[in-house]
Amino acid sequence: MLARCDENLQPYNTLGLAARAKAVVTVDSNASLREALAWARERGLPVIPLGEGSNVVIAGNLDALVLRMATQGTVIVEEGADRVLLRVSAGENWHRFVSWTLDQGFYGLENLALIPGTVGAAPIQNIGAYGVEIGPMVRRVHGVTVVDGREFVIDGAACAFGYRDSVFKHALQDQVVITEIDLELSRRPAVRADYPALARTLKERGIDEPTPADVFRTVVDIRRSKLPDPAVVPNAGSFFKNPVVAAEKARELARCFPDMPSYPQDDGSIKLPAAWLIDYCGWKGYRGDRLGVHPEHALVLVNLGNDNGDALLSLAAEVARSVADTFDIALSIEPRIYGEAA
Ligand code: FAD
Ligand code: NAP
Repeated sequence: MLARCDENLQPYNTLGLAARAKAVVTVDSNASLREALAWARERGLPVIPLGEGSNVVIAGNLDALVLRMATQGTVIVEEGADRVLLRVSAGENWHRFVSWTLDQGFYGLENLALIPGTVGAAPIQNIGAYGVEIGPMVRRVHGVTVVDGREFVIDGAACAFGYRDSVFKHALQDQVVITEIDLELSRRPAVRADYPALARTLKERGIDEPTPADVFRTVVDIRRSKLPDPAVVPNAGSFFKNPVVAAEKARELARCFPDMPSYPQDDGSIKLPAAWLIDYCGWKGYRGDRLGVHPEHALVLVNLGNDNGDALLSLAAEVARSVADTFDIALSIEPRIYGEAA
């Protein structure tokens, strides 16, 4: 097995944080995955699967084998008049895959265009954007268990998808490597264009009855206009999740902060936009110690050349502290943190 030892992880995470891993291996087949897991077991090393590193904070050196998931391939498992079932390898690039589905006339993923990362990472936090989450389209997740390299398959219900959440962040965290996911898509367009920013832009473009391709293009354009490209300004997208609070807490806050937007959830709780809370506390556009808060998007922390994960987490803690002091709300960090000092 070709493991690269004492490897710099900076090129492998979109925040561009510098830290080293004991070893890194590129996984391009299920056989090479089994071999890598056995190699790590023999040496007593934990394994960390990484896709494109767009949702991680590498805060220090990793005494682990990092698996760079690069398996490729998409097959049609079943095809009917209305639905199609696809099996997609974990290392496929998410946006390229979404674009391919539209070219084939397979619909459902258009609102999730331009999300960075790999297919295999998509179920981990149940990726979502513009009013759509991947969860309802996931029929099965295939993988192997880290402890013994055994294959497993679980169905969509067992994934326990929630808001930026799944079983892979709880009972199965660090226990499995996802190898493929089965997605059921529609062969008939079923456009969801009611998310406010999307609806507004479609209207501005004079598109009254959008096709899936219109939604795809519009989402791509909106995202390009307001989110920094990690290849230019290193970032991990939204650094904090939107807090969901009890209705009574939201009412109490609305009395003090009447301009605060709020989004009622099906269960009666209220989602508050973390970006608004952070902006209110004056952080939008902050720059210091070669780190910052993006001037167009207060949820996005950016690495301006500091390259140190611990320093980034200190900035995140300061931001969260001021939100807690002002609103009595605890923000939680969305990306997974690795290598944090104990
Ligand atoms: P990584 O960052 O490499 O990994 C993330 C986690 O998943 C890690 O814990 C890793 O161990 C685990 N993992 C990865 N692959 C596997 C595997 N095969 N098996 C087991 N575990 C695995 N997210 C959204 O939900 N919606 C958005 O709109 C969105 N927009 C973004 C915009 C920007 C500019 C950026 C930088 C990020 C954005 N994100 C968004 C976050 C990110 O793109 C997603 O979470 C994406 O799914 C991460 O994919 P990745 O391959 O980079 O995962
Ligand atoms: P936005 O449209 O400015 O809205 C701000 C926040 O308010 C969003 O995070 C969104 O929550 C929430 N929101 C807005 N309208 C809503 C509605 N009608 N019902 C429920 N919630 C509503 O958001 P943005 O930052 O530009 O992002 C656009 C979309 O891309 C969002 O869905 C966002 O989650 C996603 N995105 C995610 C990341 C990431 O790294 N996770 C990065 C960039 C963009 P939701 O987040 O729950 O949708």
